[in-house]
Amino acid sequence: MRTAVITGASSGIGAATARALASEGYRAVLGARRLDRLEDLAAEIGGEAVELDVADPDSVTAFAARVEACDVLVNNAGGALGLDPVGEADEEKWLRMYEANVLGTMRMTRALLPRLIESGDGHVVSVTSIAAFETYRGGAGYTAAKHAQRAVLRTLRLETLGEPVRFTEVAPGMVETEFSLVRFGGDEEAAARVYEGMQPLSAEDVAECIRWALAQPSHVNVDEIVVRPRDQATATDVHRQ
Ligand code: NDP
Repeated sequence: MRTAVITGASSGIGAATARALASEGYRAVLGARRLDRLEDLAAEIGGEAVELDVADPDSVTAFAARVEACDVLVNNAGGALGLDPVGEADEEKWLRMYEANVLGTMRMTRALLPRLIESGDGHVVSVTSIAAFETYRGGAGYTAAKHAQRAVLRTLRLETLGEPVRFTEVAPGMVETEFSLVRFGGDEEAAARVYEGMQPLSAEDVAECIRWALAQPSHVNVDEIVVRPRDQATATDVHRQ
């Protein structure tokens, strides 16, 4: 049975991906800080829940010690904090975004890369964003982190050329999850306004992209998937009823 490690599996895209991969026959190892949620999901899909803070190197080391074999790593943990212009940037928020999205991806991949290669058919998926190649007002802390997360994956593909491991970037537009609630510090009204009058992607829509990329034969590397709602042309051009 192939093992898939999914970070940020306590919510949104990560939880939907864990469900999708479990239904494909993967053993899912779920990581996030909210262990209670992971345990509920693990009980539902027959996976394993392990507490993980990708912003903490010791937590990543302890997590990796619990993973015996690893065929698939989904670097999904992350998100945005605030929408402040660069001129009013909050250093603490910028650092937290960089830690979770960029260093988190690096730490998890560094810890599990030997096992992914040993598997003979490893696959790393990183969930970046259209913010990995677009910019928008107020978004620089997040777009800078996502641009960097994209660069890490592209570098890994060069560094492991010839090894049995693939790298896929999945870059979604607007997806209705807890993302906006987290970005706006728990402000439910501000989060709801983000999706007002338009149809965003669901977490399941993105999970299906990940499932499809993983299902390709092992000589096929799907480099990147950009997926947006029909109602969204760019980060800021959104059609609303
Ligand atoms: P959610 O807020 O619903 O989920 C984020 C997940 O990341 C949670 O499970 C959270 O778990 C986990 N997480 C955050 N920080 C850490 C950390 N330090 N250590 C471990 N886990 C962490 O949002 P989404 O599902 O939407 O986000 C998933 C990914 O998709 C993110 O990388 C996000 O940037 C990206 N994305 C989202 C888009 C959207 O519109 N929703 C669009 C494009 C990309 P916990 O809090 O329990 O640790």
